[in-house]
Amino acid sequence: MNVETGIRWMELFNEKVQAEKDYLTQLDTPIGDSDHGNNMSRGMTHVIEAIETQKPDSLEELLKLITTNLLSKVGGASGPLYGSAFMGMLKAQKEDNIPWSAVIKSGLESIQKRGKAEAFDKTMIDVWIPVVEALENNQLTDAVIDQAVESTKPLKAKKGRASYVGERSIGHIDPGAYSSGLLFHAMLEAEA
Ligand code: ADP
Ligand code: MG
Ligand code: MG
Repeated sequence: MNVETGIRWMELFNEKVQAEKDYLTQLDTPIGDSDHGNNMSRGMTHVIEAIETQKPDSLEELLKLITTNLLSKVGGASGPLYGSAFMGMLKAQKEDNIPWSAVIKSGLESIQKRGKAEAFDKTMIDVWIPVVEALENNQLTDAVIDQAVESTKPLKAKKGRASYVGERSIGHIDPGAYSSGLLFHAMLEAEA
């Protein structure tokens, strides 16, 4: 990953978020408060604007800009969690010759530090965990991502708003897992 690919990654993620904004909100309706599409759309609009005005010329500058905008412009649970993810990635990226899988892993660890979720709690990390594992084995594909997103459907939510509906969270895809799926599909597309 370099800064050009990173910018392309964010542009593609933004396109996907804007295209699927209504679907993200729809996913957040039975098990949440119907704002995940708006939250992600607003956040990514700010990220793209910041890229255009600040023109980052290193991957670190880019990751810093993404972190700041997601932390400050997105409300709810997902803003601080995605912001933490990019902050964790920034921290790892500062090390020399670190593999990209370790950068993403550091993002996952930051999400967990902030949100205290474990695997199978039906959150975005149920996508990040298998993605990190696949990246470590050089086996990340769109199918791996889709399967991880889909795997949140039968789970009962134990963290975040979805946990308030208890058993009734079963049978629905987690909205943050779906948006994380978009993030990683965009990453594969940018790197292709
Ligand atoms: P809010 O729930 O505050 O309205 P969003 O709707 O934007 O925020 O985001 C909801 C998503 O955030 C969930 O679908 C889930 O993936 C994620 N999430 C919520 N709490 C946690 C947590 N503690 N750890 C990891 N992810 C979480
Ligand atoms: Mg919500
Ligand atoms: Mg909300």
